[in-house]
Amino acid sequence: MRKLFIISGPSGSGKTTLCAEVIKRFKNITYSVSYTTRMPRNGERDGIDYYFITKEEFKRKIENNKWAEWAEVYGNFYGTSAEFLDTCLASGKRILLDIDFQGTVQIKKLYPDSITIFIMPPSLETLKARLEARNTDTRQAVERRLETAKKEMEKKDLYRHIIINDQLSISVSELIKIIESYS
Ligand code: ADP
Ligand code: 5GP
Repeated sequence: MRKLFIISGPSGSGKTTLCAEVIKRFKNITYSVSYTTRMPRNGERDGIDYYFITKEEFKRKIENNKWAEWAEVYGNFYGTSAEFLDTCLASGKRILLDIDFQGTVQIKKLYPDSITIFIMPPSLETLKARLEARNTDTRQAVERRLETAKKEMEKKDLYRHIIINDQLSISVSELIKIIESYS
């Protein structure tokens, strides 16, 4: 059974929403809560959505080899705990990682049989509308995320599977089907 599922895609493409749906349906899949130095958004909870830590703590963990992968995204650091991954894998759990393409490259090196899935928005206009409707980022942050989205979407062919997240229920079914195909 394949153990690691990597979900990537531009901010606002629907990764969090899709991961939450998958977690609800699969009891034996664990979501890897990343660490970040960015500020929590409204409603985000420490230890559930992310572990929110300072840049100093993050850098200390780089020096002490605590990351399975890490990257700088939109001017903040994001990382996956090596200890968490090792513990889950040792206990036979399957893991869902929501990480960017820089992290994907690092995880693929460590775990070559990870399954990579890219979430695409139907269009840039829809992405902009969803980011604005989510209402969690400043106008400046939304602009920055849209600029980066174009570059990120150029990476989609590095991924084994691509889901175009138009209608949510269809995307959820597609993601579930992909995961089940590796059971
Ligand atoms: P990401 O984690 O990739 O940044 P989110 O899961 O936070 O993206 O989704 C961004 C916004 O778009 C959220 O407000 C979410 O409710 C909404 N959304 C996600 N998927 C869809 C969809 N298929 N149709 C309409 N809105 C969606
Ligand atoms: P956001 O700030 O919108 O939650 O996430 C911004 C970007 O960081 C997204 O592309 C997301 O996939 C990525 N990201 C989140 N956690 C990690 C992580 O642990 N490692 C890496 N490399 N990227 C991450």
